[in-house]
Amino acid sequence: MNHVVVVGAGLAGVRTVEALRARGFGGRITLIGEERHRPYDRPPLSKAVLFGDADTSYVGTDLDAIEVDFRPGVSAKSLREGVVETTEGEVRYDGLVIATGAEPIRLPGDGPQHVLRTLDDAHELRAMLVPGAQVAVIGAGWIGAEVATAARRAGCSVTVIESGPAPLATAVGAGIGARTQHWYDGIDLRLGTMVDSVDEGGVRLVGGEFVEAHVVVTGIGVRPAVEWLTGADIDLHNGVVVDEHLRASLPNTVAVGDCAAWWSRRWEIRLRVEHWDTALNAPEVAAASLLGEDVAYDPVPYFWSEQFGHMVQYAGHHPAGDRLIYRGDPEGKWSAVWLTAGDVPAAVLAVDRPRDLVQGRRIIAAGHRVDAERLVDPDVPLRDC
Ligand code: FAD
Repeated sequence: MNHVVVVGAGLAGVRTVEALRARGFGGRITLIGEERHRPYDRPPLSKAVLFGDADTSYVGTDLDAIEVDFRPGVSAKSLREGVVETTEGEVRYDGLVIATGAEPIRLPGDGPQHVLRTLDDAHELRAMLVPGAQVAVIGAGWIGAEVATAARRAGCSVTVIESGPAPLATAVGAGIGARTQHWYDGIDLRLGTMVDSVDEGGVRLVGGEFVEAHVVVTGIGVRPAVEWLTGADIDLHNGVVVDEHLRASLPNTVAVGDCAAWWSRRWEIRLRVEHWDTALNAPEVAAASLLGEDVAYDPVPYFWSEQFGHMVQYAGHHPAGDRLIYRGDPEGKWSAVWLTAGDVPAAVLAVDRPRDLVQGRRIIAAGHRVDAERLVDPDVPLRDC
């Protein structure tokens, strides 16, 4: 293999480039990125960058030092075997890495609508979060909650509009979400409320009510950025379909990060995880697979969110659980563990209880059974349950 082309210069793309070099790949590497920035981390965008505590979050990789031909501001337009068609012409490859991430879903309407995906989005939004500004955040998921945190902290008048029965309901269920509802103190939280359109001056709700806003932020989820692959001879279904080695159906091609739906041996389903830990760690496997090694990606997925002064951490795959056990004080520090029918933890969510997260993730990885009676006692360390 002489020339590897990596499409997508986000964390997954740049980590794959690093991993290829670390494994001794001495051929050409071309890294194609739609954004004009060099690779950066996205989690700080809705935290330190939006708060004004940081301006950038670039990753430290020296692309020149590892001899990567980095092409910022270039988009891949289409793919046929051996050739990526870009906005700046054809690029031929022997090995291909698809790392194009995900893009925010927008709502109908002609009014100005902000999303938060890129560094430029974060700078634009930050400038608008000024004291007294009326801010409508659509969606009380991970991004919506973090944007609402920043907007409240900036002294804005914040309305959060959520179609589900509780914050985070879509992500982790209404029961967990309801426990976070009191964090929205001082925010006009509208649950079970559907948006019709984003119009000039605010948000039109289904039923006709108009929520006035100077700034509308839509945080209703993302979809894998794979439109450029339409028409290519590659399996797509909720992203790029890859096996446990992160190999796609097209020869000499791997996909990694937010755009990849990989086969999980652990849960025997296909998972697509839109979180930082996957973009950080899966590239090791993607690079090894591309170079012909026999390695599998089979993590216990992990992510975190910082919202309203709380650290929320999650590990596992809760749909594999049958019942939910709570530990701790719902008004303070607490966690929740999803158990399978055989009392094996499938997932853990911890609020300001990092030990539960770390110990829970280890138990999930090991597939150990726990004693549900002991689990309810927050004073018993999870590893001793
Ligand atoms: P991306 O970061 O999306 O990178 C893909 C890159 O590919 C982009 O630069 C894109 O422009 C480029 N691209 C797309 N299409 C093309 C094309 N056709 N041609 C060329 N380039 C293309 N996760 C957590 O676990 N915890 C958090 O607290 C957290 N906070 C987050 C906050 C925000 C605001 C956001 C947006 C995400 C957050 N995440 C968090 C998720 C995490 O950042 C993502 O999972 C991670 O960025 C995925 O990396 P990626 O490289 O797969 O995709």
